[in-house]
Amino acid sequence: MEFEPVIGLEVHAELLTKSKMFCGCPTKFGAPPNTQTCPVCLGFPGVLPVVNKKAIEYVLKVAIALNCRINRHTIFERKNYYYPDLPKAYQISQKRLPLGYDGWLEIEVDGEIRHIGIADVHIEEDTGKLIHGEEGGFEFSLIDYNRSGIPLVEIVTKPEIRSLKELEEFMVALRQLLLYLEVSDCKMEQGSLRFEASVSLRPKGSSELGTRVEIKNLNSFKAVLGAVEAEIKRQQQLLMRGEKIQQQTMLWNEKLRITEPMRTKETAHDYRYFPEPDIPPIVITDEWLENVGKNLPEFPKQRMQRFVEQYGLPIQDAKLLTASKASADFFERCVSMLQQPKTVANWMLTEIQSLLHDDQIGWEDCPLKPEQLAGMLKLLNDGVISGRIAKSVLEEMYRTGKDAQTIVNEMGLVQITDEAQLRPIVDRVIAENPDAVEKFRKGDEKVLGFFVGQVMRATKGRANPQIVNKLVRELLKGR
Ligand SMILES: [Zn+2]
Repeated sequence: MEFEPVIGLEVHAELLTKSKMFCGCPTKFGAPPNTQTCPVCLGFPGVLPVVNKKAIEYVLKVAIALNCRINRHTIFERKNYYYPDLPKAYQISQKRLPLGYDGWLEIEVDGEIRHIGIADVHIEEDTGKLIHGEEGGFEFSLIDYNRSGIPLVEIVTKPEIRSLKELEEFMVALRQLLLYLEVSDCKMEQGSLRFEASVSLRPKGSSELGTRVEIKNLNSFKAVLGAVEAEIKRQQQLLMRGEKIQQQTMLWNEKLRITEPMRTKETAHDYRYFPEPDIPPIVITDEWLENVGKNLPEFPKQRMQRFVEQYGLPIQDAKLLTASKASADFFERCVSMLQQPKTVANWMLTEIQSLLHDDQIGWEDCPLKPEQLAGMLKLLNDGVISGRIAKSVLEEMYRTGKDAQTIVNEMGLVQITDEAQLRPIVDRVIAENPDAVEKFRKGDEKVLGFFVGQVMRATKGRANPQIVNKLVRELLKGR
């Protein structure tokens, strides 16, 4: 029998607000443990939460961008459970009246457009972070409450993802959207974007849903894809043997590449949700909703189409440039200073992309500024530097943050176009290579390239190649 996977995803993204959800503590990542805390986010008795309006606006943005319906009257609820990372022993979340519900996100797989349903978009506060360690044979756990109370958006899909490819496309498209909306930095290595997946199998063609298994604590695209693939295989083997799937929560063991059941102690929660009595209901007025809707950015797909029309770029370039908001912004800023879209695109997608790749960072963290690239390309246009030098200038700008003109001045990289200055160098190169001169005499034109190369090397790439070419011909003929 052939089986079809049914996959759903729960996504948590930390919001980019400056302060926490219910107190004024900062949310900056990487601060020393427990330095960004106060009685509210440490759960002291008697304190009262104050709602961060910006966080609600961010989640509204996400809900609108995901084509959701909006609950105009909404409440916060307490999700009760005891765990050391949760000092209040409850988490303030939303259950019955999420801010957004019943939406969709468009993805494209193998040229085919699909809408993946979004069940629920809601707001909740993050927990603290447990750090488990071992020293001298003793195991210990440490707790950092800096994360406690940071606002999160939780996005829950309907179980409508049907393949690993769709799953990957969905995660990429969702991350791209959150970055475009500027509501989360989506840094997975810092835990800003986290996933939980649910997986069930059913006979192909069936419309019923099988027993679902949840996989928790997935912190990268790779982990999600690996875990879901392993879980599909595991369930397939069980079903082929005629066994039943047990409803349970699993964890991904990256080393062994298998999913393992979580200790039941930790999964058997009865959260006893009830309305948070310390926060009044939230009313989303027409005016508020309209305002948030008006301030949404241009979405990736529209921007990609505009890049093709406005700048005459090939679709593939436009797609790559708009893949992240940061690269699309970089491109437009640079083109506003130098009206050569195709040249800018080429430098971005080859040279800069490869520097970013070497450093394993994205455009969001690119140390190079659009102004620097535009400045360097102007020098190249004006013939001040050669194409070969341009590449090293680019790298130097990237590493040092200096502008192109400064680097060219400091390193003496100005292109040599003066024949009087180049002639003696060409002469010397010819004199040093009698064998090649002999070949040229016998009609071998290929050695011209060799001489030009030698002159370029002698001038560390600064000579203007056209002029060198001309001089080499002249001087060889004159011999
Ligand atoms: Zn606080």
